[in-house]
Amino acid sequence: MSPDLQGNIANAAECLQDCRRLLVLTGAGMSADSGIPTFRGDGGVWENYSAQELATPEAFKANPDMVWDWYRERRLKIAGCEAHSGHRCLALLQEHYDEGRVIVATTNEDDLLERAGVHGVISLHGNLFETTCAADCGWSAHDTADNSYSFMPCPECGADVRPGSIWYGESIARCGMRAIQIFQPDACLVIGSSCLVQPVAEIAPEMAMAGNPVVEINSEETPLSSIANYSLRANTIDVLPTLVDMLTSKIVRQQTEEALQNIKPVA
Ligand SMILES: [Zn+2]
Repeated sequence: MSPDLQGNIANAAECLQDCRRLLVLTGAGMSADSGIPTFRGDGGVWENYSAQELATPEAFKANPDMVWDWYRERRLKIAGCEAHSGHRCLALLQEHYDEGRVIVATTNEDDLLERAGVHGVISLHGNLFETTCAADCGWSAHDTADNSYSFMPCPECGADVRPGSIWYGESIARCGMRAIQIFQPDACLVIGSSCLVQPVAEIAPEMAMAGNPVVEINSEETPLSSIANYSLRANTIDVLPTLVDMLTSKIVRQQTEEALQNIKPVA
């Protein structure tokens, strides 16, 4: 790791460490480090389809079997992926701070945060492993490895069932956005999110404009990069463990400060 990046991580940690309610927002870049493919380039039989052709209410209406086949394959693929050190670091961060001081919201539909031990994950775009009533009677259940619910009619009303993801053209879970509002975060850490899809994309810029510290971790520049207090240009797994170490460990913080003081400026 370059001294510049290490220095930026230390600065980012300093800017977050005094917050009382930290909102962590994760996106596709976080899951990509676990090998979960983004919609594009899934490969295999679905290579010629885009998510816009499969993850929509219209596609499900026209061909529910095809949409379910795609979802069952994605469930299988994701079930074979493992949470990485970045996911586990977020669980550690929650554990270290007082209960309820760190909440994690995600636009990812996988369950890697939960598998790593993160509590109370807010799934803003729904959860791929949920099966819900397509007629919206309110029934939903976490499906098992054999996708048994996905093959049955809704046990409450007999209608078809659908994946619990929120599709293109559907509005995102209002209860998720409401939970963030109620939490009233005073700092935000945005990890691997392109910050393009509304209304989630507004959260961090609005917090920054209100004067709250905002830190971004992303391997690519995003619309948030120029607004955030610190934008760490790297993969999640390369910087999140160090950042969380600095937020949770006095020893690591001291060592980093000493190391940074010993860096001689380039002549
Ligand atoms: Zn139903």
